[in-house]
Amino acid sequence: MIKQNYPLVWEKNNFFIKIFCSIPNIATGILIRAEQNFFAVDPGDGILRDLNSEIGTKKILSISDLFITHGHHDHVGGVWSLLTYLRVMNKKTPLFIHYPKNCVEIESIYNAFKQVYLKTLPYSITLKEIKSSDTFTAQNLVVQPFPVIHKEYLRDGFTTRQVPALGYKFSFNGMEICYGGDTAYCEELVKHAKGSDLAIIEAGHDEDTPDEMHMTLNEAKSVGESAKEYFLVHVPE
Ligand SMILES: [Zn+2]
Ligand SMILES: [Zn+2]
Repeated sequence: MIKQNYPLVWEKNNFFIKIFCSIPNIATGILIRAEQNFFAVDPGDGILRDLNSEIGTKKILSISDLFITHGHHDHVGGVWSLLTYLRVMNKKTPLFIHYPKNCVEIESIYNAFKQVYLKTLPYSITLKEIKSSDTFTAQNLVVQPFPVIHKEYLRDGFTTRQVPALGYKFSFNGMEICYGGDTAYCEELVKHAKGSDLAIIEAGHDEDTPDEMHMTLNEAKSVGESAKEYFLVHVPE
């Protein structure tokens, strides 16, 4: 077991990322800044507290895009409070939420939120369901989503199913950050992590035998070491 010392911070060429935390089954929370633009990735529980102490209200209101890797609660637990905070604080600029196709958690949160607050919402929310690996831009950020392998147990405790899950490669100013989200060892991640300026790789599986949910420490290190720099995250505590 490795104890990660959060937050983890990296910055180059005005491209900044701060991982407030990434603890499996508890919470993730990531802030990206590309020059003057702010983005949040996997806003789990506690994201509002962390954003508030990091950038304050005005800059939180300027966040233009949320990037969701998948719908597990440790990655989306802060979405409702973030959306509500933006309403209460009177955000005026649009918000885009990027998420994997068929991620019912995001659609459910959005639909419930709309039902409660649509009439009094000062800003627009646009859901951007990601259906392919096509590159797109968000403000000054170039975003390359890619599919990853991440499964979850059904109720019987041993049957599994694939969760709609993505990793993202974010590019700005000649720098590339690859974030795999939650994933087992997979070729797509290997491909995108390789040569990145920063790779953020989960090592959520606490045994040495590979599974289809998370990576072992050795798998994660081997992927991380193909990048120029890397952080291991989502290590069980
Ligand atoms: Zn997770
Ligand atoms: Zn997960």
